Amino acid sequence: MAAQLIDGKAIAKGIRQEVKATIAQLGEETGASPCLSAIQVGESAASAAYLKSQKKGCGKVGIDFHIHQFPQETSEDELVGFIVEKNRDEETTGIMVQMPLPEQMSALRVQEAIDPLKDVEGVNPENMGLLVYGLPGLAPCTAVAVMELIESTGTSIKGKQVTLVGHSSIVGKPLTLLLLSSPFDSATTTVCHIATRDLTSHTKQAEILIVAVGKPGLLRGDMIREGAVVIDVGINRIEGKIVGDVVFEEAAKKASFITPVPGGVGPVTTAMLLRNTVEAWRVQLDRRMPLAHVTG
Ligand code: NAP
Repeated sequence: MAAQLIDGKAIAKGIRQEVKATIAQLGEETGASPCLSAIQVGESAASAAYLKSQKKGCGKVGIDFHIHQFPQETSEDELVGFIVEKNRDEETTGIMVQMPLPEQMSALRVQEAIDPLKDVEGVNPENMGLLVYGLPGLAPCTAVAVMELIESTGTSIKGKQVTLVGHSSIVGKPLTLLLLSSPFDSATTTVCHIATRDLTSHTKQAEILIVAVGKPGLLRGDMIREGAVVIDVGINRIEGKIVGDVVFEEAAKKASFITPVPGGVGPVTTAMLLRNTVEAWRVQLDRRMPLAHVTG
């Protein structure tokens, strides 16, 4: 079987158009605009590239984007203090903090400091908690991007055997909760990790296989069920090339649908940040002024 490619770039474009239209409509009605503050501590080439693409994405849809750069030796208290300031600032409607943070800081304390209403990356424990209950909130961008990519294939998750490899707090765990979020639409979800024995026995059962590990070549063709939908979240840099965790050429012969790397999960994750930013803004506007006429 030759798998159909899931075009993350096209899906991301559709999301940006929808976000742009919402911003235009709400902007016209309120005279306001969304503003995202991105915080970076220290220097990192990967993080700088990510910020550049966020800036570009925000520019395309009409979100003001500000980068706040802090030196590597910044203390946790200083950073938390700055976040609290941004929480209070009505102009700032979204806050994101680039990871990883320097070792003198606790990522969790920093994430806890972000106002849950401005937490556009869905990393504050309050937003994570809402996921457990299947309640509306801001969910981590990559996790929602994966759900969007699956939906784009026309495959319902209802009752499907889904195997997820990787259970990090930012990708695997929230995604597990999204896959189980409705008693009516839930998938039968198996979560694999470093301690999993016989990974292949789990991946081979999967009608939908999601791999989020960060190990190139981890998933070979013979580990995949014929006709599976394969979502490769992994991003690995090898000799200047970006590859996923799945051996693409082998997997594409078995899968019905597959995401490429690059051009799959990445662009949709970036677009989801824009969607979350607008969602956060909309909720803040609603709280500040009665917007009974605003729908959507
Ligand atoms: P992470 O925090 O390092 O988590 C990796 C997960 O993989 C852990 O749960 C780990 O299990 C599990 N694991 C490691 N080796 C394994 C093995 N041999 N078999 C099964 N499970 C194994 O990474 P992450 O932040 O979730 O990111 C995962 C990958 O996705 C990375 O390549 C990252 O760059 C990429 N990513 C891409 C996007 C995007 O937009 N495309 C966004 C975020 C992340 P234990 O915890 O038990 O060790």
